[in-house]
Amino acid sequence: MTIANKASRAPKKLSMKQRYQVLTRDLDWEPTYVDPKDVFPHTEFEGITIHDWSKWEDPFRLTVDAYCKYQAEKDKRLYAVLDGFAQSQGHLTLTDASYLNAMKLFLQGVTPLEYQAHRNFAYLARHLNGPGPRFASLCQSIDELRHTQTEIHTLSNDNKYYSGFHNFQQMHDRVWYLSVPKSFFGDALASGPFEFLIAIGFSFEYLLTNLLFVPFMSGASFNGDLPTMTFGFSAQSDESRHMTLGLEAIKFLLEQDEANVPTVQAWIDKWFWRGYRVTALIAQMLDYMLPRKVMSWKEAFELYFEEQMLKGLFADLAFYGITPPRHVEDAIAEKEILSHQVYWTLYQFSHAAAFTTSVPTAEHEKWLAETYPETFDKLYKELWDKERENIAGGGRHFVRGLPQLCQVCQIPMLFTEPGDPTTICQRESEFKGEKFQTCSNGCQWIFEREPEKYVQAWLPVHQIYQGSCGGPTVPDVLAWYGVQEGDSGEHRGSLDDRRWQEWHADSVKEGN
Ligand code: FE
Ligand code: ZN
Repeated sequence: MTIANKASRAPKKLSMKQRYQVLTRDLDWEPTYVDPKDVFPHTEFEGITIHDWSKWEDPFRLTVDAYCKYQAEKDKRLYAVLDGFAQSQGHLTLTDASYLNAMKLFLQGVTPLEYQAHRNFAYLARHLNGPGPRFASLCQSIDELRHTQTEIHTLSNDNKYYSGFHNFQQMHDRVWYLSVPKSFFGDALASGPFEFLIAIGFSFEYLLTNLLFVPFMSGASFNGDLPTMTFGFSAQSDESRHMTLGLEAIKFLLEQDEANVPTVQAWIDKWFWRGYRVTALIAQMLDYMLPRKVMSWKEAFELYFEEQMLKGLFADLAFYGITPPRHVEDAIAEKEILSHQVYWTLYQFSHAAAFTTSVPTAEHEKWLAETYPETFDKLYKELWDKERENIAGGGRHFVRGLPQLCQVCQIPMLFTEPGDPTTICQRESEFKGEKFQTCSNGCQWIFEREPEKYVQAWLPVHQIYQGSCGGPTVPDVLAWYGVQEGDSGEHRGSLDDRRWQEWHADSVKEGN
């Protein structure tokens, strides 16, 4: 055989699209001697009808080798930044040790959710009937595992010098405020595959992702935290794929059968409110925890939710007969008061948390008053004025009792009646002769739609009363939480604060 001959017989180079087809879809087959229902047993019980799985479009056309090469590049960059930061004692250039409270909340509250997302997308990668969504789920599953790892590696450097980072997994499983994100994700994990796609793929990754991640990452960049910014960028570049999967999922379900529309609408209604309630933790983080402010919760909510989602996305979804989420008006009405109510609660319970809190400084209060001209001075300033008097008298106050928790979102009853910011909102429902309490119209609606599910909730306060949390006293419970000296309470004069002052006094002496 001559060389010329050989060349003429060489196969033509495939286009990206053909290559993708060959590498992914064409490896799929129709089962012949096993009933497809036995191969994919989980995609019918939710009442969703799919006529043609091949209609699922995968806009990324990613292959495994391209995926791995791309992710490895990003990891290399991240770990170079982490090394540089660690070697140059970069943590000393943060705005203040109190900034790290935001990162403690992230590691304790968000990183374990990444791992749960990894698990559930792996489940979808096995159980969805179509090869397109299976492969997209596989990629997302690997992404989420990578996010878990890069976040732990990044924040492990802070664990060498600061409190609150040492025991995040145990805390996530046990501590009261962390049951808010944990139960949110547990609810999604306990759903069927299509509800999970709408809960996490659409509502979390599409509707609310910018409200959840951008505040943390911009907060990091404004406060000198280069490593967190870098893992943030690395994760955000996967996010465009995750958002596309979420959007593709909802369009696919809506286009496959008109009968799917009411089911999908109910899931959007439920998961918008579930996700929105979790963002209460972000709201207070933005307005109170960051020493150098990025933007207010109100601004973030208006930009990332009202403008981009409500006006943009839901206008498009109206084509399918989908309406904006139920109770969205209650969320909009809360934007002026949410962060203040949440931080005031966390402030009073931080003796039982794994972060620290403080009364806002005069400069901080000025910012709050300017940013929230309608509400801060009128409703919240006097609380802090009174607390300053308490502190001057030696009585920085912590609430010793236990709050009632919402049966659905598991947040203490701190939210107020729509239109009346001075009356606590509490809703009561009955199920099988027992009474259950919820924090809002949204949570009550969710409870009453599936009471069988929510009566099983592991409510931290109830568990303490039942004796499941280490013992009857605060030190017993804190020991069971894995909270150590320095993790909790008042920030000023805390272990982190004292060390921070010492390190910075040293560097002034050394003339650095
Ligand atoms: Fe992630
Ligand atoms: Zn609630």
